[in-house]
Amino acid sequence: MIRFEDVSVTYDGAAAPALRGVDLAIPEGELALLVGPSGVGKSTLLGAVSGLVPHFTGGTLRGRVTVGGRDTRLHPPRELADLVGTVGQDPLAHFVTDTVEDELAYGMECLGLPADTMRRRVEETLDLLGLAELRERPIASLSGGQQQRVAIGSVLTPHPKVLVLDEPTSALDPAAAEEVLAVLQRLVHDLGTTVLMAEHRLERVVQYADQVVLLPEAGAAPVTGTPAEMMAV
Ligand code: ADP
Ligand code: ADP
Repeated sequence: MIRFEDVSVTYDGAAAPALRGVDLAIPEGELALLVGPSGVGKSTLLGAVSGLVPHFTGGTLRGRVTVGGRDTRLHPPRELADLVGTVGQDPLAHFVTDTVEDELAYGMECLGLPADTMRRRVEETLDLLGLAELRERPIASLSGGQQQRVAIGSVLTPHPKVLVLDEPTSALDPAAAEEVLAVLQRLVHDLGTTVLMAEHRLERVVQYADQVVLLPEAGAAPVTGTPAEMMAV
């Protein structure tokens, strides 16, 4: 579902590439965990999947990144909304409307989906994420875990095949982090969504992963394996 072929990314003015010679294959319906120290290029790798790199960040991407067979370099993120959903660390940075319901509908409005499809998908997503009771609440009044679930929901309504998350639990307390991880697990198991998630606290999330991708240092090739293999490294 996600494939990197000899991918390098060099930001304008940088002395060395942020990613170099990355080959990667993440099958459909897997949850892959991207780990490695700060600055090794995790966000850059995620951005190459969502199309943020190089469309919004500048720089040069060499090699080929395909998601569901589509080359992300040829499509800015808005053209990939039905394929890749992207959620960052800080849910508040993500929101464009006031209430939970409006936020879930927003992405579909941008895609011009019919009103009855939008209504159905808002209901389906509220149920899937356990947000039905909060539908009319201002997002600003929710807890961090609830906000992160709304952020995930807002990119799920176009039914993307791939969900990309950059440290989605880093700002959350352990209980809220569990809620978010449980949601991701449900997406993978029940809907066959492919999830690629960067995380620096490996032990918290490794039990949920099918594959672990380790970027050991800047510009180095990734090391991949099962959680059991990687915990032994
Ligand atoms: P990580 O997510 O693992 O912390 P990043 O992908 O954010 O790593 O960063 C990798 C390297 O690329 C760092 O040296 C960072 O400073 C640099 N970098 C990241 N984004 C940009 C950008 N938009 N422009 C220039 N340099 C960047
Ligand atoms: P429509 O596509 O017309 O909006 P539905 O909203 O009922 O119809 O969705 C159709 C199917 O999509 C359902 O079988 C449901 O299980 C599945 N589905 C629900 N949420 C997602 C999702 N986030 N990603 C992919 N498929 C989903």
